Amino acid sequence: MATKLFLIAIAIYRLMVTVGLTTLGPNELLHLSTNRAEVEAASVDFGRLTQAEPVAVFHPRSDVDVADLVKSATTSTAGFTVSARGHGHSINGQAHTTDGVVVEMGRRGDVNGPSRPKVNLREEYVDVWGGELWVDVLRSTLEYGLAPRSWTDYLYLTVGGTLSNAGISGQAFNYGPQISNVFELDVVTGKGELVTCSNKINSELFHAVLGGLGQFGIITRARIALEPAPQRVRWIRVLYSNFTEFTKDQEYLISLHDKPSSQKFDYVEGFVIVDEGLLNNWRSSFFSPKNPVKISSLGASNNGDVLYCLEITKNYFDSSESVDQEIDALLKKLNFIPASVFTTDLPYIDFLDRVHKAELKLRSKGLWEVPHPWLNLFVPKSKIAQFDKGVFKGILGNKTSGPILIYPMNKHKWDERTSVVTPNEEVFYLVALLRSALENGEETQTLDYLTHQNRRILNFCEDHNIGVKQYLPHYTTQQHWITHFGDKWSHFQKMKTEFDPNHILATGQRIFRPIL
Ligand code: FAD
Repeated sequence: MATKLFLIAIAIYRLMVTVGLTTLGPNELLHLSTNRAEVEAASVDFGRLTQAEPVAVFHPRSDVDVADLVKSATTSTAGFTVSARGHGHSINGQAHTTDGVVVEMGRRGDVNGPSRPKVNLREEYVDVWGGELWVDVLRSTLEYGLAPRSWTDYLYLTVGGTLSNAGISGQAFNYGPQISNVFELDVVTGKGELVTCSNKINSELFHAVLGGLGQFGIITRARIALEPAPQRVRWIRVLYSNFTEFTKDQEYLISLHDKPSSQKFDYVEGFVIVDEGLLNNWRSSFFSPKNPVKISSLGASNNGDVLYCLEITKNYFDSSESVDQEIDALLKKLNFIPASVFTTDLPYIDFLDRVHKAELKLRSKGLWEVPHPWLNLFVPKSKIAQFDKGVFKGILGNKTSGPILIYPMNKHKWDERTSVVTPNEEVFYLVALLRSALENGEETQTLDYLTHQNRRILNFCEDHNIGVKQYLPHYTTQQHWITHFGDKWSHFQKMKTEFDPNHILATGQRIFRPIL
């Protein structure tokens, strides 16, 4: 390890001297660190399922720093891998590397650090550093009365991290995922070249990087589309005991995507409730423990049946007078259990940042930094009823150990040229099993139990030809990756050869073996 570090440091230093940049030592100039705490922090992620120590951690202050590091990784005889790490919120070590350097893209409060978000009011976009947290993007744009259009449910994720996957939430039916809302990127390729790309210039790189799992380059800047930020949100939850009615209504609501904003909701999600009831859901600050919702009081049977909660929002401005009528008109078209309407009203930023509240609560109970064997699947619409029967009403039993989200999206809002893979139907669902494992919990809460259950779910999908695609995918063999990418594999491989010929980037995804 020490020899590898020495070689990496020498390689970087030589490069800096060659390009005439420094008389300083490499550590001062490039913020290459072997500090124990930093290396350990870069060895784990939110999943807490795997651990892998990099040789060193690197804190860039600019895109040029990133380009210099990658250049030295490819041009030196030492040869080392480079993995960008956003906020380390992956599940399976996707931002790890063992043979090289983890680039910590997040800010360190350094005044000489990466440039701050720059809003263009006239053209309604913001330019942000690739390691910027979405919550900070939001705070910056709100100063101008603007906000990004497409979100993730949780904002303590980085721009580069979510754009390497897709970035989805309840707005995706309307605006597409976050990768459909980017105008331009600056990317440091695996050859150490700093390239600006968009739909018009260097478009192959642009599309490859979006949803590209960090394989083609490190995003150092993203230009993100904005819209006027609403001031408030009406947040509504309604319940269903009938899955067909539930999905029919969700699909109806997302079919309104082309209607004027007064005739559709702004956000459509949903979740599954099994026997544990409504309260064991860390994403819910809605059903208050002081005022528990009794499922039986809703007129639905509660004999171990599964309930489904549709979650919708309507954004509005303080000056708006028609929000109540617009909501009533939409709710009238839905077939939920009549007594089951729960409504709250809150500022826009509080709605977008809602999961952070749950995070703080869980942290205070020591329940945040635990293993998270999460499984995220895209399920085609034609198979969602079969999935419900086999998984929600079958494999899951009556304990879930965390929230289970389910919501549909419109495929035509996703750009087929990007690297992300979705099922082959116009409407497909996200099913997110967001479970936490507890060491001293009941048997159904252990990591072994949940991991085994995930495997059973994947086997069920395979045996019944459900045609799922993993979101935030995790595979350990290239054959599985080839199957995952399907028709897109040969292009993906071609782009890899073009932009990262030595396979040094994001090796934690385990798609390509580095050629060092
Ligand atoms: P990391 O985990 O650090 O990195 C992810 C991958 O991207 C790695 O391969 C890494 O090498 C690469 N990468 C990181 N930065 C860059 C960069 N600048 N350029 C190129 N490659 C890079 N996702 C959703 O879509 N919707 C949600 O609602 C949602 N909610 C979540 C809630 C929680 C509590 C958590 C933990 C995750 C959630 N996610 C959600 C998943 C999230 O989008 C992924 O974990 C994603 O990877 C972003 O995390 P990150 O910024 O920490 O990236």
